[in-house]
Amino acid sequence: MVKKISNIDVAKINRSIIYKYIYFSEEKVTVNKLVKKLKLSRPTVENNIRSLLEGGYIKSGEQIESTGGRKPKTLEVVSDFKYVIGCLISYRCINIGLINLAGEILEKKDIKRTFENDKEYFDDIDKAIKSLIKKSNIEKKDILGVSVVIPGPIDNSLDEVIYSPPLENEYIDIKYLKSVIELPVCVVNDVNAIGIARHFFNADNDSNKVYLNIARGIGGFIWTAGDKYIGDNGIAGEFGHMKIVPNGKMCHCSQKGCLEAYISTSCISDELDITLEEFMEKLNEGDKRITKLWLDYLDYLAIGVTNIYCVFNCKVVIGGEITEHLKRYKKVLDTKVIDYLPFDKEKVIYQIGSYNKEDIILGACVHYINKHIDTI
Ligand SMILES: [Zn+2]
Repeated sequence: MVKKISNIDVAKINRSIIYKYIYFSEEKVTVNKLVKKLKLSRPTVENNIRSLLEGGYIKSGEQIESTGGRKPKTLEVVSDFKYVIGCLISYRCINIGLINLAGEILEKKDIKRTFENDKEYFDDIDKAIKSLIKKSNIEKKDILGVSVVIPGPIDNSLDEVIYSPPLENEYIDIKYLKSVIELPVCVVNDVNAIGIARHFFNADNDSNKVYLNIARGIGGFIWTAGDKYIGDNGIAGEFGHMKIVPNGKMCHCSQKGCLEAYISTSCISDELDITLEEFMEKLNEGDKRITKLWLDYLDYLAIGVTNIYCVFNCKVVIGGEITEHLKRYKKVLDTKVIDYLPFDKEKVIYQIGSYNKEDIILGACVHYINKHIDTI
């Protein structure tokens, strides 16, 4: 049966459309602009604006010049109406940030703490979040939720992280964390967070882009037609487990020949029992064995990048802790990528991005900001 839409539903939809327009607009918004752009009647726009102003969702901004009559005032979203907390869990540290609806980080806390898959570790996160809330003088009721970022594929339907090589655990049960933080909690993958942050907060307007994140594990994120693509089970973009060598090196996933076994940072440092920095130092000193390994590494990376490009036909952004080292060898990688590309050889098909912790926290918080926007 088709549900009939009542007048109340229509009014709610209009209010939501108007709020979203103001929220996402990169230009100044006035009542005139809303009437024109949204093709709504002036009384509808004015009534909704009045209700949004009274509810504290939006505020009047500056007065701007007009072509005739009264000078109109701009309308702006009240960015401190609600807040979200983002918490990035890495192997060696925890980064927590309190952000407002405009994506401004108002408070942050960085804690040096090696990951441990136990209650004590998650209790410490809870304590840090509570102290951040206290310091910020914000009421708990104004916090929409806590977005926890973990490197690794996440199946939110199971409430747990299935597999996270960067945290050196195959299985992390985050149900306990969800139970101690007395706020709504969601868990977000780090690479998803990077991609979402760039697109949601208008740093990147490309409608298609794929992210390949290289750290101790390999992560991926697919942005297509202006939205994220997660696949049927939410794990689309697991580029690390594409097979690139039949019967090749053993991967963490118990399969052989995965891309991750050839391009993760752990495979270039742990196998030689040196740190990534030591590997790079030896490379820069011209160590012959290390140079050979590095050229092989770039080969496998080029195969990964070109395979991804062939599937998605859009720019591939390489991110993660490898990027600061990769930048110096971009020309070598360019040559290998062009060699492997079957077409579009003249195009720039990849770029070297970054792994910015603040972007990750922002991107993670988008989950609750979106939810909030949808409820208006
Ligand atoms: Zn694998």
